[in-house]
Amino acid sequence: MLRSVHRLARPYTRYYSSQQAAPLGMGFSLTEEQKSIQEMARKFTREEIIPVAAEHDVTGKYPTEIIKKAWELGLVNTHIEAKYGGMDLSVLDSAIISEELAFGCSGIQTAIEANNLAEAPLVVAGNDFQKKKYLGRMTEAPLVASYGVTEPGAGSDVAGLKTSATKKADGSWVLNGQKMWITNSGHANWFFVLARTDANANTGKAFTGFIVDADTPGITVGRKEINMGQRASDTRGVTFEDVVVPAENVLGSEGQGFKIAMNAFDITRPLVASGAVGLARRAMEEATKYSLERKTMGKPIFNHQAVAFMLADMAIGIESARMMVYRSAYMRDNGERNTWHASIAKALAGDVANKCAADAVQIFGGNGFNTEYPVEKLMRDAKIFQIYEGTAQIQRLIISRGLADAVNAGADALGGF
Ligand SMILES: Cc1cc2nc3c(=O)[nH]c(=O)nc-3n(C[C@H](O)[C@H](O)[C@H](O)COP(=O)(O)OP(=O)(O)OC[C@H]3O[C@@H](n4cnc5c(N)ncnc54)[C@H](O)[C@@H]3O)c2cc1C
Repeated sequence: MLRSVHRLARPYTRYYSSQQAAPLGMGFSLTEEQKSIQEMARKFTREEIIPVAAEHDVTGKYPTEIIKKAWELGLVNTHIEAKYGGMDLSVLDSAIISEELAFGCSGIQTAIEANNLAEAPLVVAGNDFQKKKYLGRMTEAPLVASYGVTEPGAGSDVAGLKTSATKKADGSWVLNGQKMWITNSGHANWFFVLARTDANANTGKAFTGFIVDADTPGITVGRKEINMGQRASDTRGVTFEDVVVPAENVLGSEGQGFKIAMNAFDITRPLVASGAVGLARRAMEEATKYSLERKTMGKPIFNHQAVAFMLADMAIGIESARMMVYRSAYMRDNGERNTWHASIAKALAGDVANKCAADAVQIFGGNGFNTEYPVEKLMRDAKIFQIYEGTAQIQRLIISRGLADAVNAGADALGGF
């Protein structure tokens, strides 16, 4: 019987339990509570996700039952505050969970993680009423929600979004437009939607964020897209045609939407990155085991240095990427601006996941190319980590701009501590 996060989560000292000595400047140990959360998520993954991951990949069936069980254990909606019924876990706690879930199946982890993404704009900008109503709802039943920003014509180029919202005399808004690639949208109870509310303003002020109930008249959810990987996850287009949204569902205030939508990534990019680390770890584990069993030229292929060094490079990438996940999560949890570090974590972990999965296929040889073995799925699943929540190029844009900004601001050292 699995214990639940609800019983582990509070009260506890977030980073250093009473048994641990205060760190001398820096600490890399998880608290006893975090180790328990990790152990529980790992057990859940082993018992509930791994046995059915291949089936969900083949059928594309949405993992409703798994989400329900994960929700019961407190592995979903991790960052909702206790006063709205949530576990109030830190970003670091949540990252520990998402690494474990993605080890089992990053498609199922993405379906779970998409809730955190939809909720993040409310976490950063929702008022008490909105949090009580929409975040509270997520803690009362195993619902899912969606983050709707991307459109058929604009993903990286958020300034190019065309979905519009027009204010009516009574203060309510009318939404029109089309969103694309919206995770969980076929099952969502509500959406976060970014829409243009000022045709002439600059990007920073042109958009407003809305919470939109999924059963509002005028919403049409498209067919489930057949993607290269992460097939358990549900991605669709969503059309909004004269959808009326009450004034009380505006997040923050009019014109703040772009900032809110981007700030949400400070919470979620470390979590996407930790999912990529989980997938990479799975690739390393599968490939290491296989290399110790498979023999060529009279010895296990592990004993050919070319193979062993591929595994060593996997470990180097995984450990480094996890450190960046933890660092960026820790910064956010401690009230420090983490945008730049979150982009490094996301870019690094996405690349590491792809390299590890491709090298795992290589180590498996012909078997790696076949669906009877687990690594071809990892290779297909890994690709999206370089695309969603800001592509690998967009992360590098943020990282390089951060360097230029630091020089222009007269910094005497770039990056680092
Ligand atoms: C499975 C899946 C799930 C998703 N889930 C969601 C979701 O839940 N909610 C949501 O809102 N969106 C979601 N997305 C959308 C995703 O975030 C976008 O696909 C992504 O941001 C890229 O946008 P795009 O597809 O329009 O590509 P484009 O922006 O057209 O980019 C195409 C290529 O050009 C590069 N590029 C673009 N601009 C620049 C630049 N300035 N400098 C350098 N290179 C550049 C990109 O890196 C990319 O390689 C999802 C996508 C997928 C495939």
